[in-house]
Amino acid sequence: MKLILLGAPGAGKGTVAKLLTKMDGSVQISTGDILRAAVAAGTELGKQAQAAMKAGDLVSDDLIMGIMGERLKEDDCKAGYLLDGFPRTIPQAEALKVLLADMGEELDMVVDIQVAKDVILDRLTTRRTCEGCGEIYNVKSNPPKEEGKCDKCGGAVTQREDETEEAISNRLDVYNEMTAPLAKFYAAEGILVSVDATSSDAVLDAIKAKLAS
Ligand code: AMP
Repeated sequence: MKLILLGAPGAGKGTVAKLLTKMDGSVQISTGDILRAAVAAGTELGKQAQAAMKAGDLVSDDLIMGIMGERLKEDDCKAGYLLDGFPRTIPQAEALKVLLADMGEELDMVVDIQVAKDVILDRLTTRRTCEGCGEIYNVKSNPPKEEGKCDKCGGAVTQREDETEEAISNRLDVYNEMTAPLAKFYAAEGILVSVDATSSDAVLDAIKAKLAS
């Protein structure tokens, strides 16, 4: 399966992607995870992305397309992929279309995960992420067994730098302005499925039903 997961920050794209990978071996590709790893490793890419990320702004389309042009050609993508956090602008969507056409590939579906703003704000301020493996926790509903330590890899579970109230508010504005228009773009392509998401299971069920039909 080759899917794009659309949805505001905190809509649950990462959680849904992780569940979907277990279904058929598709790989989750999160541009945010790739960028955070580059920042942590202090690479040139990380240095170029760091300031925009910290403020909750978007990294340049050129930088993102450079990453994805390489990533989508890797061997593990042959089993399918779930794009989480990419594309985020119309130019990225257009560039992806050209890239996939060159590779002779087509997307199966674009899932727009819709969640009410108050739910998103609550989730983002209480979300914690493992610095080691990216596992997602929530201080209220799903804390790690030992405070600050990942159940899976033992890494440090912390609040992301871009999950301050100011950065979150900016990320939601940026999403509405730059990324939300992608729903119309993919609706015009005839591959958009909108899911009103109360839980990741509800999203998963809707995707399974659509794939089966
Ligand atoms: P995420 O983990 O998807 O919320 O991404 C974290 C941050 O990485 C975003 O707020 C952006 O600064 C940057 N980023 C991730 N993916 C993209 C993308 N496709 N285009 C531009 N910036 C991105």
